[in-house]
Amino acid sequence: MSEIKCIGILTSGGDAPGMNAAIRAVTRSAIFNGFSVKGIMRGYKGLVFNEIVEFKSQSVSNIIQLGGTILKTARCKEFTTPEGRKAAYDNMTAAGIDALVVIGGDGSFTGARCLSDENGINVVGIPGTIDNDLAYTDYTLGFDTAVNTVLWAINNLRDTMTSHDRVSLVKVMGRRCGDIALYSGICGGAEYILVPEVPYDIQAIAEDIKKSKERGKTSNIIVLAEGAGNEQEIKTIVSVISGADVKVTTLGHIQRGGTPTMADRMLAARFGTRATELLIEGKTNRVIGIKNNKIIDLDITEALSQTKKIDKHLYDMASKLC
Ligand code: ADP
Repeated sequence: MSEIKCIGILTSGGDAPGMNAAIRAVTRSAIFNGFSVKGIMRGYKGLVFNEIVEFKSQSVSNIIQLGGTILKTARCKEFTTPEGRKAAYDNMTAAGIDALVVIGGDGSFTGARCLSDENGINVVGIPGTIDNDLAYTDYTLGFDTAVNTVLWAINNLRDTMTSHDRVSLVKVMGRRCGDIALYSGICGGAEYILVPEVPYDIQAIAEDIKKSKERGKTSNIIVLAEGAGNEQEIKTIVSVISGADVKVTTLGHIQRGGTPTMADRMLAARFGTRATELLIEGKTNRVIGIKNNKIIDLDITEALSQTKKIDKHLYDMASKLC
């Protein structure tokens, strides 16, 4: 028998579709296995400022289909100091929480590791971020839904841009990781995909668009990850060199919301139940992921030490399809 009686759960950092489905999966699998569950509001803020609520099975009813997070999320400066984490730990233990499941990105995992290192509390991380920027896992929760949202936008833009013979420059999220741009670019049939990981020559792209115009191709789609360049500068260069009418669409926070896709709900179910299993097995300081469609777990420090790279095979493939 595990010594753990009560599992605390929180969502932290940027929200992502599927977080609610993961909250539900952790809660239900924990209760199924005889644990009690507490929900912590607003990420680490709720630990530091003691916003902890009792969770029953019904607490997570009717949330599987909701984007966002019913536990809310926040950034918490206080938690980045040992004093703040001690206050968080004291509140946790006073609430009877023996182990913590953290749904978030690399910042949230770093915080979880510090909390565990300093106070010896069991922590398990579930990757929840639309950016897919964690190297140790093929996919993070929310990425699939975000890409599908971008695809919806690209489909609509394609209709109007084709009618008007325009070039569509679609700016998507991804400051350091170009996965949203890469996957939505491939699946949306974009002619050009600009990601922060791979240098590109915008003059050459503009020349290429000019040539394609001369061949009779009147519309093009460029997907730009936010970390890969300035949309207004790109627009100016492409318009001046190619003579095309370039329209910029910045998708922004729309990418963060929405009902989670089948892929994200399935991931949430698998990640959430595995989190409970890990605690039953007595494993701690682990993060959960998926590799080649198998659920994996590894040490937080090891996971965070890995550097995310763009999938070069997919990137090269994209250039052969446009
Ligand atoms: P994400 O988890 O999406 O990467 P953030 O980087 O904003 O999001 O991190 C979420 C929260 O995790 C922060 O507000 C902070 O409370 C905590 N955190 C982030 N980095 C650290 C760190 N180096 N040490 C301790 N806590 C951290």
